[in-house]
Amino acid sequence: MTYQNYSLAQLRQADAAHHLHPFTDHKDLRAAGSRIVSRADGPFVYDMDGNEILDGMAGLWCVNVGYGRDELAEAAFEQMRELPYYNSFFRCSTPTPVLLAKKLAEIAPDGLNQVFYGSSGSEANDTALRLVRHYWALEGRPEKNRVISRDWAYHGSTIAGTSLGGMAAMHHQLHGAVPNIVHVMPPYAYELAEAGESDEQFGLRAARALEEAILEAGPDTVAAFIGEPVMGAGGVKIPPASYWPEIQRICRKYDVLLMLDEVITGYGRTGAWFAAQSMGIEPDTITTAKALTSGYQPLSALLVGDRIATALVEKGGEFFHGYTYSGHPVACAVALKNLEIIEREGLIERVRDETGPYLGQALREKLGDHDLVGEVRGFGLLAAVEIVKDKKTKTRFDPVGRAAGLVRDHAIANGLMMRAVNDTMILSPPLIWTKETIDMACERIAKALDLARRDLQGA
Ligand code: PMP
Repeated sequence: MTYQNYSLAQLRQADAAHHLHPFTDHKDLRAAGSRIVSRADGPFVYDMDGNEILDGMAGLWCVNVGYGRDELAEAAFEQMRELPYYNSFFRCSTPTPVLLAKKLAEIAPDGLNQVFYGSSGSEANDTALRLVRHYWALEGRPEKNRVISRDWAYHGSTIAGTSLGGMAAMHHQLHGAVPNIVHVMPPYAYELAEAGESDEQFGLRAARALEEAILEAGPDTVAAFIGEPVMGAGGVKIPPASYWPEIQRICRKYDVLLMLDEVITGYGRTGAWFAAQSMGIEPDTITTAKALTSGYQPLSALLVGDRIATALVEKGGEFFHGYTYSGHPVACAVALKNLEIIEREGLIERVRDETGPYLGQALREKLGDHDLVGEVRGFGLLAAVEIVKDKKTKTRFDPVGRAAGLVRDHAIANGLMMRAVNDTMILSPPLIWTKETIDMACERIAKALDLARRDLQGA
């Protein structure tokens, strides 16, 4: 591998000189230098400083089958030799995207039988937004084009993805969002439930914010609602059980399409192929990416429901949309093999019956009593730990993000990769984690919490 001709110092220097990283304060990065991860195996990544780090984030919520899977490399190699690329425009197709679409229709919730490919979650959400608007136009109702989303949602970083998302800092840099997208409150009970309000009541109230927004806009102008079943990048915000059934009821009542963004929750993370199945949601579209290939290749698949697909087929007329790499044969070959591994190894059942319940329980038992921990929550292999100054009043440390940032830095220094979103610590490990791996992670988090508490003394 050519990088081995370079020292770590040379790579860092070239990184600083030429590489603009995503979601980065470039001034800070120049001062601190980057961590260069050069290899990985199973649940661990290895950086060039010689550290072995347990990857509590599965890369970026994507490496569901873990690292070092030769089978995926072989699938890519064979496909590249046979046919590295051909497009699926102009009435052409190649075999692997066809077979993958067939497979996705089998594992998807009932009624989602068509697939539109892209290379990233952001692209898939751009497709989804254009598709739902196109659908209503085909139905002769072009004015039904507003989309309702939520504060704190993350739907990607393209202009449509950012517009759909509800991240204030990202909107601030947008200088003009895609029109006709509005945001309502997220189902984040820890901060937004009122005193004495039960989880169930809060879930209904949060869902009814959608109804209010539909009524305010006028149901005839609302195309769709979009949401992550569990908000991921916004801080693993897990909705109360009452939330999604009420959202579904409201969407049906006003004939508003339901778009799920399962870029994080898809392909096993919640103990089913899709969170729609774990939570009993019946969406019109599901955006997926990341773990579709376990991150071994860039690929996204927008799963499209029969209602929309039927309109496309019956009404006809070109849908002027697509990407050079829609249905990339190599990425689709890797995805097929990846889904085969998930099935063969029973990874979804393991999350559903064993590691999913255990992750939440272990974090609660081992960390719940710590002075800095305000709440622990988990759903499948997604978990969050709220960091607070005062458990009773839920007061945070000042400034926002400092305390969880310290916990994160200590966790990484102690061999566990995890992330902080403001003052929420989050985990999204590979599905290959066992109970023993979860115990190892809990020990490392406990140590990081102790070290952070020491740093924060007097803060
Ligand atoms: N939707 C969700 C829910 C995501 O978490 C992400 C990425 N973290 C995206 C969309 C965007 O995906 P990508 O970064 O592949 O464009």
